[in-house]
Amino acid sequence: AQKRYAAIRDRPCVTRDGHRIELLMNAGLMADLPSLPSSGAEGVGLFRTELQFLVRNQMPRRGDLAKLYSRVMDAAQGKDVTFRTLDIGSDKVLPYMKPADEPNPALGWRAIRVGLDKRGIMRMQLQALLRAANGRPLRVMFPFIAQTEEFIEARAHLTREIHREKSLGHPLPERICVGAMIETPSIAFAPRRFYEEADFVSIGGNDLKQFFFAADRENERVRRRYDTLNVSFLSLIEQIVARCAETGTPVSFCGEDAGRPVEALCFAAMGLRRLSMRPASIGPVKHLLLRSNLSEVHKVIAEARETGEQSVRGPVMEYLRSR
Ligand code: PEP
Ligand code: MG
Repeated sequence: AQKRYAAIRDRPCVTRDGHRIELLMNAGLMADLPSLPSSGAEGVGLFRTELQFLVRNQMPRRGDLAKLYSRVMDAAQGKDVTFRTLDIGSDKVLPYMKPADEPNPALGWRAIRVGLDKRGIMRMQLQALLRAANGRPLRVMFPFIAQTEEFIEARAHLTREIHREKSLGHPLPERICVGAMIETPSIAFAPRRFYEEADFVSIGGNDLKQFFFAADRENERVRRRYDTLNVSFLSLIEQIVARCAETGTPVSFCGEDAGRPVEALCFAAMGLRRLSMRPASIGPVKHLLLRSNLSEVHKVIAEARETGEQSVRGPVMEYLRSR
């Protein structure tokens, strides 16, 4: 299998019926970066910046972060890197910033909620990103946005830092794209304005699924109970894709499910054209997509929904076996 994946590594991912699917990788540590060329990833669709905060025992300094982000961009050699701002709380607790006990950490003070309340940390990180870019294009993504105003407020902090950098005479990125993660049903159904304001969005399926099915992603007992290919979840994905199409907002999927070939195929059939996954998944996903006809898969999914299936997995697997 490894040989097979190596052979298709540098081939663009185009389905049998001509749809171009961009395959990107998720990363978070410097050690992940060598996988960029070896996996055939077209960029880093999700750089989880909190990992750098989690591996230390004190708050990193701006200068250290700037150096690190700069090395990440160097390693990407001009390919896009989407930096997600600090996503802490819930399952990711910093040893030097323990939150007060919360009855439901997954629903608690986490991610952008911390960023907007503790502005010093967010601004420090945004400054580090701007300095690291040092004139190169920059993509910043805010995690766990639950309503439009949170995105507007977070972006205002970035705008403020951009002005500050400019007034200090530092070079500004030649282009800045500011996006949001879709990890709560509330933002998926936000007014059109949200989709107009965001330069791009990325579906964080791990959290989105947990909140959609009200099933803790960390709880083994309930985690696997609900299939990602459940028709309700696919309808949600379809809605997001349709709303993005209306406003011309680029959309990707960066949860773990994007790295599972059958899931990736169904997402592509629902209209997603950018998938970000762990590097080792790119080969298997590409292998299946290259051999697939999205309009056929779309038809199988539509029929399964029509006949009231709970999940489209069975029918899609059957279709894949029969062709
Ligand atoms: C997600 O929620 O799908 C996601 C990509 O973010 P994380 O797994 O880091 O919460
Ligand atoms: Mg998440």
